[in-house]
Amino acid sequence: MVDYYASCPYCGKTLDAGATFCSRCGKNIASAGSTSVTTSQHYQAAGTPPDVENYLVWAILATIFCCLPFGVVAIVYAAQANSALMAGNYELAVKNAENARKWCWVAFWVGLAAGLIYVLLVFVSTCAATF
Ligand SMILES: [Zn+2]
Repeated sequence: MVDYYASCPYCGKTLDAGATFCSRCGKNIASAGSTSVTTSQHYQAAGTPPDVENYLVWAILATIFCCLPFGVVAIVYAAQANSALMAGNYELAVKNAENARKWCWVAFWVGLAAGLIYVLLVFVSTCAATF
């Protein structure tokens, strides 16, 4: 454990064994173990983005073919997922991508329902016209 804290993980300064705070940058060395791991994972996620599925295409398709208002919501979330990913905020990107996926489905089902109602209405009015 002493070896682990022999140098500051933030600025690299060589420290006394058992030091809790870095004498150069003042960071808490005691909690550095978990913090540095989290930081490196964060940078890894930022370096290799494409793990978050991009729903932008689906959102646009849903907007055109299904239901405009809900499709637009999906597009907004998909765009936010993209920008969060660019900023390296992986968790936010995943969260926004989930929302985009959810609204794609809402747009799809609402569009489908509206389409069926439309067909039904056309059918009914056609029948009514025949009689
Ligand atoms: Zn330091």
